[in-house]
Parts: sequence; structure tokens; C-alpha cells
Amino acid sequence: ESQLSPVAEPEEREDEATLRPKRLSEFVGQPRVREQLDLVLQGATRRGSPPDHVLLSGPPGLGKTSLAMIIAAELGRPIRITSGPALERAGDLAAMLSNLAEGEVMFIDEIHRIARPAEEMLYLAMEDFRVDVVVGKGPGATSIPLEIAPFTLVGATTRSGALTGPLRDRFGFTAHMEFYEPHELQRVLRRSATILGVDLHEDGAEEIAGRSRGTPRIANRLLRRVRDYAEVRVDGAVTREVAQAALKVYDVDDLGLDRLDRAVLGALVKSFGGGPVGVSTLAVAVGEEPTTVEEVCEPFLVRAGMLARTPRGRVATAAAWTHLGLPAPIEAFG
Ligand code: ADP
Repeated sequence: ESQLSPVAEPEEREDEATLRPKRLSEFVGQPRVREQLDLVLQGATRRGSPPDHVLLSGPPGLGKTSLAMIIAAELGRPIRITSGPALERAGDLAAMLSNLAEGEVMFIDEIHRIARPAEEMLYLAMEDFRVDVVVGKGPGATSIPLEIAPFTLVGATTRSGALTGPLRDRFGFTAHMEFYEPHELQRVLRRSATILGVDLHEDGAEEIAGRSRGTPRIANRLLRRVRDYAEVRVDGAVTREVAQAALKVYDVDDLGLDRLDRAVLGALVKSFGGGPVGVSTLAVAVGEEPTTVEEVCEPFLVRAGMLARTPRGRVATAAAWTHLGLPAPIEAFG
């Protein structure tokens, strides 16, 4: 399957727990977010009260869950973890909220997908540390206000634009996570190699970092694939040559495009003359689901400057033709 999806595979979860940075000082990159968060946490600790609610916004695999756990660790408090899709019924949320002890951290992943009634319950909980529990049904239903312990909500979202205004406004601090620079990914890789006991050479780290799409989760995944190759085919040392050979086996090219990305670009360029073409048509042409093309391939292709989303459909840029080794049509770009 795709080595380059920024979303965690189920069998990957255990490895991820091992590689997760546990403290803010171990968290690589994101200097702005780290400094801001450090102030928020230290301020709260000095005042002896839970910090403001925190919203972590950014693409998958950049460390939002890790940061949520770090916030709890830095505060020395337990963390309760749930997700927007899991909070379908407001009652489930009420139960979680009323079980919180003072100062605990509640983490809601994919908070933009929370159901409306649960979201409305969250407003009051975040603002006044209260929930209104509705007892009974129909005209006889009454709502009983229930006090909950002051807590800190940490929400994570890949689509902050999909959050409603009232929810967004209730977060005291929003951290915008950026894609990582290659040198930062090299640090992530060096750290992971130490934990996993991989003999990662500097040029090997550089090679893997360059193909990791700015995403630590992908960097760690490629490191595991390259380690397999290094242990099975050579002496275990991950040099640049070994990384290159391994990633060739997994069809990850020098810019971090995989077979599907290249298929999408290839179809766009060869079958549709560079576009514009609708995403569903493009997906059919490569035999994939439109959501896969849209959520896995496109964000990276757009960021790499090879694909543009226009109102009339997807368009290949000159860089796409060049990357595929084809001459770009002059009329389209002149
Ligand atoms: P998200 O919640 O944004 O999808 P995660 O927090 O689950 O991302 O991070 C995915 C993996 O990437 C983690 O297991 C962790 O090992 C690694 N990772 C993410 N950010 C960092 C970082 N800043 N430093 C070191 N490792 C990181």
C-alpha cells in the first residue's frame, strides 16, 4: 500500500507510541508553536490554574496528538483521549466531562467532525465548566445543570476552516502546525534511529528526509522500510545509497512522489492534456477513490507546485511535465 499517506495505518500505532516525543524539549521543529505553548503552560503553572483551551491545527502526521500528550505531561496531569466522530451522542461527552478531575486534559482529535449537540454541550463546558444534562424526553424533559472540574480541552483539526465560529472562539490559543523543513526531519529521523537502534548515517538521513513530504510520520515510516532493506540486503547501515535503493523498491521517487502520485500526474498530463479536469474523472483514470486522490495525493502535489486546483478542475503545472520528463506545452504557460 501507499508508503506516503500522512494518516497512520492501524498496525503503525504501536511504533508511533514508541517514537512519540514525550516532553516539549524533545519535540523537534515547530519553533513558534513550541515557544508559544511553553509560555501558555508556564503561565498557567505559575498561576496554579489550568491553561486556556488549545486548538492544534494542521495536516495529518505533523505531531498534533504528540503535542496534546506533551501538554498533559508538562502539566503533570492525566489525558483523556477521544475524537470528534466518537462523540456522536452528547451523552457520551457529558459522561466524559463529568468524570474529569481538576486540571486534567481532554483531547478531542478531529474536532471538526463532532456532532452538533455534542458541540453545543462543549460551549458551556469550555466557558463555564458546566454541562446541562437533559433528563427525560418530550415536553416533560428537564435540563439539570451539572458542575464539572476546571479542565483544559485540547482539540486537533486538519481543517480549521471547517470549525464553527463559536467553537473556534472558545479556544484561548491556536497553534498552527507547519510542514517540517528537511533539516528538522533529519533530526526527527536521527532521534527515531537512536530509539530503534538503527545505524543511520548522516547522508542516509538526508536522503530519507528529502522524500518525506515535510511530515514526521512519513519520515518514520520510510525509516522503518529502509531499515528492513538495510538489515536484509546489506549490513544494516543506512547510507544514502542504501536509502536510495530501498526507496526504489517502495516506488518512492526523489521528490517523495509514489506510484499513485505519478499515476495522477501522468493521467492529468497524458490523458487530459494537462487539464483542467474534474477530480472524479482523474480518480477513475487511475482507478482510485476520489477521496484518496483528493486527500492523499493532491495536498502534496499542490504544495510541490505540480498541480493546481482551479474552479474548472485540476491543472498540471510546468513542474509536473518536467518531473515526468516531458516537455511542457508552451501555449499553456506562455
Ligand atoms: P498527528 O496527530 O498530527 O497526526 P502525531 O502526533 O500522531 O501526528 O505524530 C505522528 C508521528 O510522528 C508520531 O508518532 C511521532 O513519532 C512523530 N512526530 C510528529 N511530530 C514530531 C516531532 N515534532 N518530533 C519528533 N517526532 C514527531
